[in-house]
Amino acid sequence: MAYKYCPQCAAELVTAEVDGVSRLKCPACAFVHWDNPVPVVAAIVEHEGRVILTRSKGWPEKWLGIVAGFLEKGETPEAGVLREVREELGLEGEIVGFVGHYAFGLRNQVIFAYHVRAEGEIKLGDELEAIQALPPDEIRPWSIGTGPALKDWLKHREGASER
Ligand SMILES: [Zn+2]
Repeated sequence: MAYKYCPQCAAELVTAEVDGVSRLKCPACAFVHWDNPVPVVAAIVEHEGRVILTRSKGWPEKWLGIVAGFLEKGETPEAGVLREVREELGLEGEIVGFVGHYAFGLRNQVIFAYHVRAEGEIKLGDELEAIQALPPDEIRPWSIGTGPALKDWLKHREGASER
């Protein structure tokens, strides 16, 4: 995200080193554009033994993702991820476990990934173009964004003997 003017005093921002990192800062007041990562919650949704992969509206046909979104103010990550599952798939889910946290530098995000189990009939929300329900064995995780979470989850799952 590129700021050009100070949101506090409207002076033109300059690039300067702050705390050892090159950042945009205001020469007139104390404003620094820290550009801290934004948290995102993501759900590996297991539904009838399959994992639900999603394609958002406007994505190329071959792109797939998983349910993910931003938190509302004051919302816990757990509540947020279940809300996203409700909004995108129309399902009431329950959290099975926390998969891990993943830095996504390209989008300046930190992804918090959960394994969510859900039952019922899927109803696509406004943001989704399509879904694919795949058996875990057929999933080929992508390399960035939510892909590493999926990869970790699959690896852990393979190692689990009780399934
Ligand atoms: Zn300023």
